[in-house]
Amino acid sequence: MTAPGNHKTLVAAKGTGSPSIDRRARPPRHLADFAPAERREWVAGLGQPPMRAGQLARHYFARLETAPERMTDLPASGRADIVGRTLPTLLTPLAERRADGGRTVKALWGLTGGVRVETVLMAYPDRVTVCVSTQAGCGMGCPFCATGKLGLARNLSAAEIVEQVRLAAVAAANGALGGQPRRLTNVVLMGMGEPLANFRATQRALSDLTDPAPSGMGLAARNVTVSTCGLVPAIDRLAQEGPAVRLALSLHAPDDELRDRLVPVNRRYPVAEALDAARRYFDATGRRVSIEYALMRGVNDQSWRAGRLAKELNRRGSGWAHVNPIPLNPVEGSEWTASYPEVEAEFVAHLRGKGIVATLRDTRGADIDGACGQLAARVAGQRAAMDTGD
Ligand code: SAH
Ligand code: SF4
Repeated sequence: MTAPGNHKTLVAAKGTGSPSIDRRARPPRHLADFAPAERREWVAGLGQPPMRAGQLARHYFARLETAPERMTDLPASGRADIVGRTLPTLLTPLAERRADGGRTVKALWGLTGGVRVETVLMAYPDRVTVCVSTQAGCGMGCPFCATGKLGLARNLSAAEIVEQVRLAAVAAANGALGGQPRRLTNVVLMGMGEPLANFRATQRALSDLTDPAPSGMGLAARNVTVSTCGLVPAIDRLAQEGPAVRLALSLHAPDDELRDRLVPVNRRYPVAEALDAARRYFDATGRRVSIEYALMRGVNDQSWRAGRLAKELNRRGSGWAHVNPIPLNPVEGSEWTASYPEVEAEFVAHLRGKGIVATLRDTRGADIDGACGQLAARVAGQRAAMDTGD
């Protein structure tokens, strides 16, 4: 998704790496950092009756509200104080770009310590999707990815992840996507960072998003997708512990020789192990796994690799995975570029010929720094996956 490929432009333009950044600074604790069962105790520790936890959760998760003046069920005296301590401001808007006649909005946020992340909100006729970040930067070092080039600044807290979603939902409800109020329906963790390398916060955030209101936002788990470069133990842990969201595996090559270069974590968790874990995820959750495949000219787009990919998927069963090929969004200064359209079409046809569900998407939002298309295309791929069912 654009996300990583494009983050660089907006983030770098705003001066990532400036001396004012403190990577060790941590955000204040927030209600969304706690499991529902822990919230009462935490609020009690702040000198409040435990029942406040439920009231605050209702305002935050069910009403998407953080303004004390609109929380009239809380006693006026001390209201602003307790709201400030349990629902502190975590994200400061730094920049915003629009594309597609206002149907795509990319936001740049400043976080505690001055680190920056991006969120992209996209409107479709039948759904509204937000793509959120889970880390500032990323330590996984995939050489075709702009976020990978930034390195890891720090993990986001659960609440910093949830806040990106809440603010997107508020913006959509207030008509940010072309004027009409829209309801946020889908979340993809495909922005900056490797979600499963920040496991605890990511899992907490996923629960906050999918727990029924008022403990959580009540989004359908099938409409929430976590994307990973293939951290096998973390995939298994999520499969066992939940929540049972959709999984996307960023494969990009079906053979270890090439994947070792494209996704360096492959040296620890090679293709076969990553695909086995993806298959186990399907077995545990019943959710069809997305295989992400960014097509790079002359690198991973050969028909024989499509054949190899189909073979690797088919040998693990049928109907458990679908492939989302997208054209690479070229990163400045990188040696790789997008495949030729006819080569992409050929790759998809080859997969289909072997019985694999695959949809190639055009990019969208190309007028945001020529970038947002990558994100939109990947999200569109998720959509295609949803349309083909679980
Ligand atoms: N770290 C996670 C999630 C964020 S990256 C992961 O790697 O899955 C989201 C998706 O964008 C991944 O599939 C990633 O491989 C892909 N991506 C990164 N840079 C890209 C680029 N320049 N062009 C196309 N896709 C890219
Ligand atoms: Fe980019 Fe790789 Fe990190 Fe994903 S895991 S954000 S592709 S460097």
